[in-house]
Amino acid sequence: MLMAINTRIGILGGGQLGKMLVQSGSRWNLDMWVLDKDFDFPAARVTNQFIKGDFTEFEQVYQLGKMVDVVTIEIENVNTEALHKLEKEGKDIYPSPKVIDTIKDKGLQKLFYREHQLPTSDFDLYQDADHIRKAVSAGKLTIPFVQKARTEGYDGRGVFVVRTDNDLEDLLDVASVVEDLVNIDKELAVSVARNPSGNIGIFPPVEMTFHPEANLVEELLSPARIADELRQKIEALAKDIALAFDLVGLLAIELFLTRSGDILINEAAPRPHNSGHHTIEGNVTSQYEQLLRSILDLPLGSTEITSPAAMINILGEEGYTGPVHYEGLAECLAMDQVHLHIYGKAQTKPFRKMGHATILDKDLDHAIKKAKQVSKTLKVIT
Ligand code: ADP
Repeated sequence: MLMAINTRIGILGGGQLGKMLVQSGSRWNLDMWVLDKDFDFPAARVTNQFIKGDFTEFEQVYQLGKMVDVVTIEIENVNTEALHKLEKEGKDIYPSPKVIDTIKDKGLQKLFYREHQLPTSDFDLYQDADHIRKAVSAGKLTIPFVQKARTEGYDGRGVFVVRTDNDLEDLLDVASVVEDLVNIDKELAVSVARNPSGNIGIFPPVEMTFHPEANLVEELLSPARIADELRQKIEALAKDIALAFDLVGLLAIELFLTRSGDILINEAAPRPHNSGHHTIEGNVTSQYEQLLRSILDLPLGSTEITSPAAMINILGEEGYTGPVHYEGLAECLAMDQVHLHIYGKAQTKPFRKMGHATILDKDLDHAIKKAKQVSKTLKVIT
């Protein structure tokens, strides 16, 4: 049998998450092959084992699978038919295509939580905008509510909050989940990894604040500022979710803490996630290394926090579209414990995720102050 470390890994997706996964694996000299559309994508800048292709196409995913020992993903929107076929043929696919299928359709994902009695906001599924309007007219559905496209929404696109009758005009005309508008106190996230031997590792929960307009994480704080009891409750829930999915790999779970103190699952992603970037510098083991450990059936690493951290996404400035230019890099690097990650995307556009910064400080409030300073100083323009 091959040593795990000699296993050849295929990664579907070569964005920033793929890049950081490759960077993590290169410390162990892992043999990793990345499939994505173009050589100017972030992961292609850190490996020459980059295959130009389309991970939504059956044949290209299947061919990648044939040349590696284990396949993983950095994005859910991949061709899972090819992954099912590869799995039937005995290939290790982590996360399993079944989990990817359930998660990439928000409707199936919500049904999964309901079926497994995992806490999530109440919801119904609708075919299109017309059916939603009819349900409102018939008194079966009351405003306010949140409409979500079942597929292909990301970073808040495909999420529409209906607060008034007028908003009904602007419904997305797609198959949707319609769920209760939650009275949110805090948005939290927790990541859990599991390997084929059944070891489970849970990262301490983090807290997120959102950019109101772009609907992207504005700041992520580690650890979340919550009571110990709540932290334990969240970690127990993360374990239940991982077991319900029969997960192998990494699962990032976004949660709502409601004003009445309940924890509800918003959604999950079976891959590295924006809410785990800070683990590179702020935890003993990063989410990327943990994913590699889990899919190679190696012992999982300690998830312990080594320093409080504030993470901010570095987004394309509003009003600039074109070849990217970074302003204020040197000023940010002059600040203590500011760790910059520039993904290497050639083109910027408003709110595009171009990089992130993790700011460490033994005092989380100081880290937050410094993060705001970095946000103000660093500009992504053309
Ligand atoms: P995406 O997959 O595009 O990130 P999410 O389902 O995470 O979409 O929703 C994006 C944001 O919209 C959430 O972080 C939260 O701020 C808000 N949101 C989503 N669902 C609800 C809800 N049921 N009630 C209140 N706010 C919500």
